[in-house]
Amino acid sequence: FIRFDDVSKSFGALKVVEELNLDIGKGEFVSLLGPSGSGKTTILMMLAGFENPTSGAIWSDRKRIDKLPPHKRNMGVVFQNYALFPHMTVSENIAFPLKMRGTSRADTSERVKRALDMVQLGALAERRPSQLSGGQQQRVALARALIFEPEVVLMDEPLGALDKQLREQMQLDIRDLHKRLGLTVVFVTHDQTEALTMSDRIAVFNHGKIEQIGSPSEIYDHPSTRFVAEFIGETN
Ligand code: ATP
Repeated sequence: FIRFDDVSKSFGALKVVEELNLDIGKGEFVSLLGPSGSGKTTILMMLAGFENPTSGAIWSDRKRIDKLPPHKRNMGVVFQNYALFPHMTVSENIAFPLKMRGTSRADTSERVKRALDMVQLGALAERRPSQLSGGQQQRVALARALIFEPEVVLMDEPLGALDKQLREQMQLDIRDLHKRLGLTVVFVTHDQTEALTMSDRIAVFNHGKIEQIGSPSEIYDHPSTRFVAEFIGETN
């Protein structure tokens, strides 16, 4: 469904992603796991359209997408610093991408209502971000990413700012949303436990290359390299 075909990315002399070949199935939850600087965010940026590959091709639904601008890719994106607009209500924050594209008022209110329902935030629609908990704010960011009802959602450390309990709750919520909506999710994290509990498959990255890819149990029970064994064995 999504395919990276020999994708490399350099910033000047620095090779950040090296000849990446990766297939992600429709409806699959795939985590990109690895230490800081291993190239995970750059891969997500190339998929979202905020960075161009230096070489190689990216495909989605049999279309080549690596030259398309972000808004033509129909992917929802959620980042760690979810940057809600403080002066706007929850509804206005979620409606913002629609407004940018000149969606009609009736269509906007219908879509905002559906997005709020998806993340169970209907009751808080008129609040401002400062009146919400961290988890609720993250849910607003999630709703905003779902506003165009994308098939693919890209998440970059979306739970990094949350405390442990909230983090675990949101992990369940995101898994649930993934299943309920049949979303294809590409999830960047440096947290082994998070990747192991949430993913259908995990790609472990080291210096811009996949060190191992497999199901959580394959990665956990049969690490194929010393790097994977040590990285998975580390506790946070
Ligand atoms: P982290 O978890 O810290 O975000 P990561 O695995 O996501 O790490 P990337 O953010 O993809 O790693 O960064 C990989 C390397 O590319 C890093 O050395 C980073 O400094 C470098 N890099 C990323 N973006 C740029 C840029 N726009 N210009 C120059 N170098 C960059």
